[in-house]
Amino acid sequence: MAIESVPSSSLSPPACEKDVKALEFIEEMTRNADAVQEQILAEILSQNAETEYLSRFGLKGAMDRDTFKTLVPVVTYEDIKPEIQRIANGDRSNILSSHPISEFLTSSGTSAGERKLMPTIHEELDRRQQLYNLLMPVMNQYVLGLDKGKGLYFLFVKAETKTPGGLVARPVLTSYYKSDHFKTRPYNPFNVYTSPNEAILCADSFQSMYAQMLCGLLMRQEVLRVGAVFASGLLRAIRFLQINWQQLARDISQGTLNPNVTDPSIRECMVGILAPNPELAAFITDQCSKEDWGGIISRVWPNTKYLDVIVTGAMAQYIPTLDYYSGKLPMACTMYASSECYFGLNLKPMCKPSEVSYTIMPNMAYFEFMHHEPDLGEPRGSTPRLVDLADVELGKEYELVITTYAGLCRYRVGDILRVSGFHNAAPQFTFVRRKNVLLSIDSDKTDEAELQKAIEDASGLLHDFNASVVEYTSFANTKAIPGHYVIYWELLVKDPMNAPPAEILNRCCLAMEESLNSVYRQGRVVDNSIGPLEIRVVKGGTFEELMDYAISRGASINQYKVPRCVNFTPIVELLDSRVISAHFSPSLPRWTPERPMTLG
Ligand code: AMP
Repeated sequence: MAIESVPSSSLSPPACEKDVKALEFIEEMTRNADAVQEQILAEILSQNAETEYLSRFGLKGAMDRDTFKTLVPVVTYEDIKPEIQRIANGDRSNILSSHPISEFLTSSGTSAGERKLMPTIHEELDRRQQLYNLLMPVMNQYVLGLDKGKGLYFLFVKAETKTPGGLVARPVLTSYYKSDHFKTRPYNPFNVYTSPNEAILCADSFQSMYAQMLCGLLMRQEVLRVGAVFASGLLRAIRFLQINWQQLARDISQGTLNPNVTDPSIRECMVGILAPNPELAAFITDQCSKEDWGGIISRVWPNTKYLDVIVTGAMAQYIPTLDYYSGKLPMACTMYASSECYFGLNLKPMCKPSEVSYTIMPNMAYFEFMHHEPDLGEPRGSTPRLVDLADVELGKEYELVITTYAGLCRYRVGDILRVSGFHNAAPQFTFVRRKNVLLSIDSDKTDEAELQKAIEDASGLLHDFNASVVEYTSFANTKAIPGHYVIYWELLVKDPMNAPPAEILNRCCLAMEESLNSVYRQGRVVDNSIGPLEIRVVKGGTFEELMDYAISRGASINQYKVPRCVNFTPIVELLDSRVISAHFSPSLPRWTPERPMTLG
């Protein structure tokens, strides 16, 4: 199949009439970024003027930026939690939004160990769809012929729950895949997936993945791009193939479907797709039984032009592993979004991961930017400096603050972005990091306080042995799939004859997992996206060596603090060379679907 990719400097003409419109829309929005922002804020303030929240600040119908900024405070989730709680409990009055809250979107960010609940309104689905509609027209400028084949995308829905007041609470992508926007999307030759809706919409992750992989294998010659939302998801699919290829090959050879796939709608739709194909089965057996899985993606799907996965932010840790499995296919990071709001897209999706910049689309919400000085920590005083989208400065770092149609006002998202350039009058940003995230394997985000508490909870098990944890640090081990948390412990054992035995240290691993937030535990128990937590006990004096090392590299002895997470290879190597024993969590932690916010 001849598919040409175009160097980024020479853009292809738009692939079709729809693309012309989409690209013109991007130009229009980015050329008029400031005016669009002004208008979006006025629209939001007018729509939500009568809400309880906005009324509180005495805007008196003002819709301009100055009044808004003077009267309305910048907030975090914790500040608006009482309002969210009331909505969750069934208060249908216009608390945050004048439009009815249609559902809650559950963020992977947590509050008190549980997912944050983001209220949304029905019309937000259209806004999200509008951003999705821009992705292929942009991509078509760089890669030609994507209408001549399909995309193998591993997409999943997750369990949903109800709040005490009866609103559905689920992740934003589950909401999108279950919406008519996705389910009854019009045919677009540039956006044909190998996965049938029935497979994507099956909440059982094994059955869903099995069916999606099977379809991907059956249509291997047609596949032009392979993707998942995040890099970790694509690697999970590779791991699935490693574990299940024999059964998959058997099904392909015989034209049957694994009896463990019991979902009636998947079974029904697979009838039309499956037919005995011993030749393909032999090929898959041959490829997958090889010891070396390097380049497996391009061997099994030889026409793949690129991987469509996010590898920015916490996902950058997976780039080497993806390079290995794909034989260094390009990786396209196409968009930047969250449960609170979809932000923008990458206008040069085929650029290197290290050069990815996202252009925030000025029509998605009203955006402000809080100066972030990497070395100064939180801004002091009550009035942090915030600037508008059109006023950010090249090279500076900011925390993103949003005001949405659904009723979030001057809400701190927690993402730190750096201005890397401009497209017309709209700034472009590299994603620097999410604030306060120490460890992340998949969508879990563990901060320093959570890690500290987990260590405290677990070290309670050492009391009987008159032992304690004197120092610790952590490391996200992503070399194996799934990755797992590694915690280095230096112990003080007062009575060496009564040192904590291995069994107790194993239980400490589990106790830490029990203490971590619900997104972590869901990753362990339901999604299988995180492996058992590991404690590596290091020799006494190791952390002093760590300090000596840091000081030899210029750290100030007075200000030295033990890093609570390490990823610099020489430091990890130093720690590993001092390991006395390693311990893993012997079982899964508890996880039950959350009851989002109980009454009262
Ligand atoms: P959630 O709240 O679970 O919807 O997660 C949204 C968060 O995921 C964002 O606020 C970012 O921290 C992160 N995220 C989303 N898209 C990207 C991206 N393209 N690159 C890096 N991080 C991202």
